Amino acid sequence: MSRGAPADDPLDPATIAADLGTALLPRTISCHAAVGSTMDVARDLLRTLDDAQLPLLITADVQTAGRGRMGRRWEAPAGSALLLSLALRPTWLPPERGVALVWMAAVALCEAVEDVTPLRAALKWPNDLLLPTPDGWAKAAGILLEVSIGHRAFEWAIIGCGVNVSDAPPPGATPYPTTSLAAATGGSVSRLVLLRALLRRLDYWYTQLGLGQQGELFAAWSGRLITLGQQVRVEAPDGQIMGYAEGVEPSGALRIRDAAGAVYVITAGDVGLGV
Ligand code: ATP
Repeated sequence: MSRGAPADDPLDPATIAADLGTALLPRTISCHAAVGSTMDVARDLLRTLDDAQLPLLITADVQTAGRGRMGRRWEAPAGSALLLSLALRPTWLPPERGVALVWMAAVALCEAVEDVTPLRAALKWPNDLLLPTPDGWAKAAGILLEVSIGHRAFEWAIIGCGVNVSDAPPPGATPYPTTSLAAATGGSVSRLVLLRALLRRLDYWYTQLGLGQQGELFAAWSGRLITLGQQVRVEAPDGQIMGYAEGVEPSGALRIRDAAGAVYVITAGDVGLGV
């Protein structure tokens, strides 16, 4: 597909929801051709919805101000990517365990990719989805979590996903290699089919989380981290750390041991990571 060409699998609420068979997800779906950011559309629409209308799913063919973590830009030609935000109100989840929503999205996305392609998906800590290419692992999707916390409970949590389905940024446009599902499989992949697979896997993990099965989710997430067992370089606020990524803490923080034996525990909020 040429860059910026319209998608051949338009997304619409009825087709997304048809016989989806999920217990919890989603109750309201809104599909857009172009938006600034699906995160902002979700946040605005949330104000008008009551609990019975959640979760809320927003999709867009193109974003004019797509964002990743820490205000970084997310770029994708029109119709080439699965761009979505899913708004939830998990009042039962203690806010200090909110990172589990990131694990849930990352694991569900890997599983969905594996359901609809022959590919094996992996994660770069904490939440970049990587796919194998002849030149090594390359980033095919990013995940973002934005939350509002009230009286010791979530008012809302919005999970954002951008998945390169038929196109990816050209070499040099990002600090690391990127790929798309089409490039990695050598064939075409439907955004609709991928989205429906993702919603099913999200439904499974959201139900598990609600049942208190956070340990199973942690194991699924940490088991996919290709960062572990590698030498890594972290841009931390007070300088660069280079060392061996030896594990993750129960909180999800990355544990790095440098050549002198010093151990650093890195949280996701404040670093860029080079593998
Ligand atoms: P990292 O730089 O380690 O991937 P991150 O997790 O903070 O960090 P994201 O929040 O997923 O990154 O997304 C923002 C970054 O992703 C941007 O800085 C840009 O380099 C890169 N990026 C933007 N668009 C795409 C895309 N379509 N595919 C892959 N990477 C992209």
